[in-house]
Amino acid sequence: MTTAVDANLAAGFERVTDMVDGQPVTVWAVTCGCCGAVGKVRFKPDFPPAHLTQNFTNKGWDMRGNTRLCPTCSSRKRGPKPAGHPRATTKESPMARIVPSPNTMPMPAPPGISTEARQTALVYDKLRDHFDTGRGVFEDGWNDERIATEVSVPPEFVRKVRDSFGMVLRLPPELAQLDADIKTIQALVAEVLERQTALRRKLGVAA
Ligand SMILES: [Zn+2]
Repeated sequence: MTTAVDANLAAGFERVTDMVDGQPVTVWAVTCGCCGAVGKVRFKPDFPPAHLTQNFTNKGWDMRGNTRLCPTCSSRKRGPKPAGHPRATTKESPMARIVPSPNTMPMPAPPGISTEARQTALVYDKLRDHFDTGRGVFEDGWNDERIATEVSVPPEFVRKVRDSFGMVLRLPPELAQLDADIKTIQALVAEVLERQTALRRKLGVAA
């Protein structure tokens, strides 16, 4: 019976021991066929080869040929893109460049899709690109208002879409504290002004 471990070894992955925080950990590794650099990923022994390949590919390794290339060597092999001559370095067919794929083609609004649905989709795209849902913060320079301007909808609409997708805006604690401090100070000032006004009135002193 061939196990996933056998399959990984057959696919050219190596089991090597790596030191992590002073502890020996067995990891999967590949060696660059060009410069000998070793790439390692810490996955279970029976992680399927396709997933290991995908993981290295995500890290910039060229895993397509029999000779694996590290990110440095694979980018050197591809060479810098000469400006204005994409033809020289791309392998895709000329048609692929002339005809935009359905995914990238600007879509006219299909009949039956409401303006609101389209605007919601546009707002969602911007939020997905510029809002960190995990931390509940926008990327620097972004906010509901900016998205509203770019998509030409009211800021309230952006807030509604953001809430509906569970993208909750969490203020950084220091900002929340400053906001609270300002409210306290404003309340104090209002109270002092009120006492001042009352005393002036009582004494008949003009403001
Ligand atoms: Zn290399």
